[in-house]
Formats: sequence, structure tokens, C-alpha cells
Amino acid sequence: MIRYSLICANGHEFESWFASGDAYDALEKQGHLSCVVCGTSKVQKSLMAPAIGRKSNQAPVQQTMPEPVGDGGEALKAARELASFMEKVRSHVEAHAEYVGDNFADEARAIHNKEAEIRQIYGEATLEEARDLIEEGVAVAPLPPSRRKRN
Ligand SMILES: [Zn+2]
Repeated sequence: MIRYSLICANGHEFESWFASGDAYDALEKQGHLSCVVCGTSKVQKSLMAPAIGRKSNQAPVQQTMPEPVGDGGEALKAARELASFMEKVRSHVEAHAEYVGDNFADEARAIHNKEAEIRQIYGEATLEEARDLIEEGVAVAPLPPSRRKRN
């Protein structure tokens, strides 16, 4: 058995085993050789690059698998868990705190100044109101947005 490196007219290189050099010649003459890639019978022995004289610093060529991109499943799962957690936080607040609507800033300030009954409240506040409250030392925290529709 003898192995030849072959190349077709379209530039596909491949290797094939033959019983002997004569067998290869016979197959080639009869047109029984064909490219494994494109099937053309225009195939010939490829000129082997000599092993000597090869640059020693030449890195071996290796086919590498592409980096696994991931399907985003983990990130999606984490996002869902976070959304679920935030929904629970909101539900807890809604169940245990009093809704004061747009009066939140006034009520929070009144509670902070002990001018109103001390209780947990939640409601609407503008960014400016929230910032003022924080500057005044009133403990406020943003509430996760509700996924439910407001009536
Ligand atoms: Zn080919």
C-alpha cells in the first residue's frame, strides 16, 4: 500500500491509499480517480512540500473549535429569578405598607419628623422628591416597578 497526497483541478487536497504506484498510474490513466470533495476526475499527485527547510518557528496549524457562545440560557434564568424576586419585594411592601400615592414625600417626611403615625408607607415620588428625602435623612428606597397594570 502506498499513500499519495492528491490535488484536484479545483485545488482540493486529500490523501488516498493505492495498492502500488503502478495501480495509481493505471487508475489515473483510466480516469478512475476522483476528488473526494468535488468529485472531479482531474486529479493528480500533489507536490509534497519538503519537510526540510521548513521554518522552525512555524506554528503547527490546528483547526480550533469556535468558542462556545452560549445560548444565553443562564443569563435569561438569572433575569427571570431577579424579576421574580423584585415582584416578591413589591408584593411584600404592598401587603405590609400603606399606599399614600402622590403624598409619599409629605407622609415620609411627617413620619420621619414624628408628626405622623410611624408606619410603613409606599407611594409615588419624583426623583427630586426622593433625593430631597434622602438628603433630609428620611429612609426611602425605590420600589421595583410593578409588572401589573396600574388602575
Ligand atoms: Zn476537488
